[in-house]
Order: sequence, then structure tokens, then C-alpha cells
Amino acid sequence: MTTKTICILGATGSIGTSTLDLVERAPDRFEVVALTAQRDVGGLADAARRTRAELAVIGDEALYEPLKRALAGTPTQIAAGERAITAAAAIGADWTMAAIVGFAGLRPTLAALRAGGTVALANKESLVSAGALMTEAARAQGATLLPVDSEHNAVFQCFDHDGPARIRKVTLTASGGPFREWSLEAMRAATPAQAVKHPNWSMGAKISVDSATLMNKGLELIEAHHLFPLPAHAFDAVIHPQSVVHALVDYVDGSVLAQLGTPDMRTPIAHCLAWPERMSTPCPPLDITAIGRLDFAAPDLARFPALGIAKNVLLAGGARPAILNAANEVAVAAFLAGRIGFLDIALIVGKVLDRYDPPAPASIDDVFSIDAGARHMAEDVMESITA
Ligand code: NAD
Ligand code: MG
Repeated sequence: MTTKTICILGATGSIGTSTLDLVERAPDRFEVVALTAQRDVGGLADAARRTRAELAVIGDEALYEPLKRALAGTPTQIAAGERAITAAAAIGADWTMAAIVGFAGLRPTLAALRAGGTVALANKESLVSAGALMTEAARAQGATLLPVDSEHNAVFQCFDHDGPARIRKVTLTASGGPFREWSLEAMRAATPAQAVKHPNWSMGAKISVDSATLMNKGLELIEAHHLFPLPAHAFDAVIHPQSVVHALVDYVDGSVLAQLGTPDMRTPIAHCLAWPERMSTPCPPLDITAIGRLDFAAPDLARFPALGIAKNVLLAGGARPAILNAANEVAVAAFLAGRIGFLDIALIVGKVLDRYDPPAPASIDDVFSIDAGARHMAEDVMESITA
């Protein structure tokens, strides 16, 4: 097998370190050409030393000197700043992991797609905000976009890519998050520490809060619509507390294909790393008799309004997904900073969508202006509710 050159955007995060774990276990199959991080100099420098990366980029320019010191005497080149991250993505590695969190991942992920290699996409916010433009860029350059998100990776494995008309419906599962059984009253007082304590998955803070509101599942429905050629109404979500079945694909003849696995992101990441082949992972094998039972339930949209809002946004399309994403990023950051309550997140997102209705984006510049407008509006709404 030939060696794949690898670039990891967001190498110090939850997905980034899981990717490194797999890459480091198979050093003869992978050659790391670039690693990026925003602020974690120590984590980035350690990873660059271990993998003998050709290039390490830190997003925060003030951290250039500390990174330089940390990698002194190694062959790794260093760079700093937002543009340097996008330049690293544009190098054109054979395989790029897009694992920056949030809208900040859009430019680098797009640069990786435009470079034409294989892009393993974890950064769902970029696809939610600019999905049509991204999939178009991938098509134009012949880039391969592989879904890392566990549910989408599951759909990818069960989907009939040559005959989407044979598929009736795609269902993504959601664990229900830490507040699955909480009342609205209890959720009103939920703290950031409680919200990031996910029952089944270990993840970054932002996606953990999104899992607690179920906004994550809403973002994922929109993500799925960009990845798989079915109408918006063909995508739905179901609560499945064990996180063992990751997605279900319903065929017109009544057959339902599902992908199962232990909740460990290294499985979908490995699927993308080895695709179209397979590679072994250290993930514990699924023991179905030990699990014993699998439960499924319809989501409660009264307690988790974010999912209902996102479903409407999926059906409406246009600029709505970019607005949803931007308002949510602002609200989640404010919640994590202790500025607003947990239930305010969906409230703010809903109000921003009510007040801001620009036309659909025709270019990436349009997406950036819609994102900026929605962030501004979210700050205004937040001031009015906290005043
Ligand atoms: P994380 O917070 O653990 O890591 C984020 C990474 O992005 C870090 O390396 C950080 O340095 C970098 N980063 C942060 N802000 C940046 C900026 N402004 N510019 C450049 N780099 C920046 O997040 P995570 O949990 O690894 O999630 C990453 C992405 O993957 C998210 O979009 C998330 O929704 C998605 N995802 C994560 C999981 C999971 O299990 N963690 C599962 C599915 C999808
Ligand atoms: Mg997911």
C-alpha cells in the first residue's frame, strides 16, 4: 500500500487527537505533512515531534514565538495566523482531516476541497453554513468528501450511492444528551459543567452543549441533506440512548440498513482514513449481548426546541442554515461563559431567525456577510434578554 500524506486541521481537539492516535499506530501507511491548532502550543508541538510533521501552524499569531521555541531543533517548519492555517489546508495532502470547530473551519476546509484531495469532514458547521458551495467546490475539483460525523459515516456505509431513488428515508440517531430525562424547569438552571458531561461520547465543549440542546442533531440533519441526494423531508432523527446504532437507511422495499458500533470516534475516522479499504482500530468490539437491549423514542420537541427550529431551517434552506449556525455559535459561547442560561440558547437562535431574513448566499463572501449579520443580531437579542 502506498503512503498517504496527511494534514490535520484542529489537531489538538477531540477529533484531532483521535485521528493522530490512529495515524501514529500505522506510521508506515501515513506521512504527516501539516498539523494546525488555535492556541494549544504544547499539544501541537508534542504531536509535531511525535509524527515528525513537516509543518505546524498555530492560529493565534501571538503564539508564534512559543511554538518556535517548543519545536527548536526539530525538522518541523512553523507558521502562525489564520491565513497560514488556510495555506496549510491548501498544500494538497492526499488526505485532510477537517476538525476545526465552528464556522472558523470554513475557509481552511474549502481550501482543502479546492486542493482536490480527500477531505474527511468533522467540521459540520462549515457544511451547514455553506453546504451547496462546498459540495460544488468538491465536485469542480474532483475532491472526495468523506463524512466523519458518526451518524453520517454510518449513512455513507449503508447508502446506495448509485441508486438514491431506492431510498425512502434516512434516520440519524441521537443519544438525547445529558438532559434527556430532565424537565424544562431543571434545564433552566443547568450549568455549563452539567451540559458538557455527555453520557456516551467524549467531545469538545461546543459540540457537547449542542448535544445537550439537540441542536447538534438539527445541524446534522442539514449536514446529511448536503451529503446525501435525498429531499429535505427524507431526513429525520430518533432518540437512541445507547448510541450503538448510528443511523438507519430505509429502502423502498421495506429493508432497513443500519450501521452499529461502540461509541468511539476512532471507528468512523478509521473508515475515512482507510477508505475504500479498511484498517483495524483499538476500539473495543461491540458486545451486543452485554448491551442486551436497544431503545428508540421520538424526540420531545417541547423540551428540546432547538431540534424543531433546525428542522424548519432544513426545509426552508437559503440563508437560514448559516443564520442558525452563527446564532447558535454565539449563544453557546455565551452559555459556556456563564452569560446566559441553557434554555436561552434556543430562544436566541429562534429570535435571530425571526428577525433576520437575507436572501440565499450566491458566494462564499455572501456566506461570511450572513454569518456576520446573524452574529451581530444574536448579540443584540442577548443584550435585550439579559438586560
Ligand atoms: P475541540 O474543541 O475538541 O477541538 C477543536 C480544534 O479546533 C482544536 O484543535 C482547536 O485548536 C481548533 N480551533 C478552535 N478554534 C479555532 C479557530 N478559530 N481557528 C482554527 N482552529 C481552531 O472540538 P471537537 O470536539 O474535536 O470537534 C471538532 C469538529 O468536529 C466540530 O465541528 C464538531 O462538531 C465535529 N465533531 C466532533 C465530534 C466529537 O466526537 N468530538 C463528533 C462529530 C463531529
Ligand atoms: Mg454526530
